[in-house]
Amino acid sequence: MKRHDVTIIGAGMAGASLAAALAPHASVLMIEAESLPGYHATGRSAAFWTETYGGPGVQPLTSASGEFLRGGGFLKARGALHIAAEGDFARLDRFAEAFAGSGITLTPLDGRSVADRVPGLRPGSWRGLYEESTTDIEVAALHAYYLREAKAAGAELVCSAPLRFAARENGRWRIDAGNALDVEAGTLVNAAGAWADEVARIAGVAPLGIQPYRRTVAQLRVVPEAPDTLPLVIDAAGRFYFKPEAGGRLWLSPHDETPTAPGDVAPEEIDVATAIDRMERVVDWTVERVERSWAGLRSFAPDRLPVYGFDVAVPGFFWFAGQGGFGIQTAPAAARLGAALLLGGTVEAGLDAGRYLPARFA
Ligand SMILES: Cc1cc2nc3c(=O)[nH]c(=O)nc-3n(C[C@H](O)[C@H](O)[C@H](O)COP(=O)(O)OP(=O)(O)OC[C@H]3O[C@@H](n4cnc5c(N)ncnc54)[C@H](O)[C@@H]3O)c2cc1C
Repeated sequence: MKRHDVTIIGAGMAGASLAAALAPHASVLMIEAESLPGYHATGRSAAFWTETYGGPGVQPLTSASGEFLRGGGFLKARGALHIAAEGDFARLDRFAEAFAGSGITLTPLDGRSVADRVPGLRPGSWRGLYEESTTDIEVAALHAYYLREAKAAGAELVCSAPLRFAARENGRWRIDAGNALDVEAGTLVNAAGAWADEVARIAGVAPLGIQPYRRTVAQLRVVPEAPDTLPLVIDAAGRFYFKPEAGGRLWLSPHDETPTAPGDVAPEEIDVATAIDRMERVVDWTVERVERSWAGLRSFAPDRLPVYGFDVAVPGFFWFAGQGGFGIQTAPAAARLGAALLLGGTVEAGLDAGRYLPARFA
């Protein structure tokens, strides 16, 4: 029998970052169903840090993560260009209004300036908003860093151990995670990504309606090669995004959101074809080859904000879930916030913990 203060279910970016924040102050055990952590959403991201991504409710977490990520060398300058064709210009205006006063610089661009930044842009009427602060983010390095920090502070990670049973007895959790793993813990943390509602059910906690949605990315060879100076290009109407990848390659997504049961998802050919079709309407590049494609699950609470905090009905059950499409870029601030809530510490200025509590669904 293992005894810990905190047992975390899931060792993706959420579980690993929280473990690293908690481990200096509490004994922590991470339980991961897969043989390697990072196999699911964390290992499948598009690897950008964009302060506006996820909306104004998520932005404070992303912005508050910037300093740590820059300091750790996890970010690389990129810039994002929110692009609109005629008919969608009002979307850019609404987008800029939504972030007015946030401190994020969104520079309006006319058609000529958009074309300067996107070589091969098809003729037409274009406008853009340039978000200079956007960067690429080293996802694998960040995840590995958190796992390392957690281990160095004494946290334990057990893989190939899917949670099977959890019950609260005499103020402690009794947990069975297969792999001959019998655990007792004061607090059970649900950092199970797409499986967050399933893990809640196993523990006898009412699910919150956290829904996984499939998102597809394809890695392309295009002619001419995608220049490394290309920004992340995001359609204002949410139909695609693309960005350059090493060696002149391009990462392209149709921005799909297909509700999907938790699992090991694979890309559908139709989604890759849709992405290419949408891109080809914007630029005159020739797609030479789809080198690879992948899909992962982005899991959202009903209001699309993450869920950080203790369950309202079951004591000792802590939600750290619903990281949607922003779980990498928000990880440092989210982990600090989660640790403050778990340990009874002070929440840093600029973050409103109340808006992320599960109590908002009660
Ligand atoms: C295509 C795509 C592009 C994305 N792009 C970006 C991006 O550019 N920037 C960004 O910030 N975010 C991005 N995201 C979102 C980001 O990847 C996620 O928000 C983040 O990885 C969520 O981390 P997590 O730890 O909650 O989930 P996961 O990485 O899925 O980890 C959850 C873990 O819990 C484990 N688990 C589940 N059930 C159990 C159980 N019963 N017992 C034990 N373990 C269990 C799973 O095996 C899994 O390893 C993207 C996501 C996708 C799919």
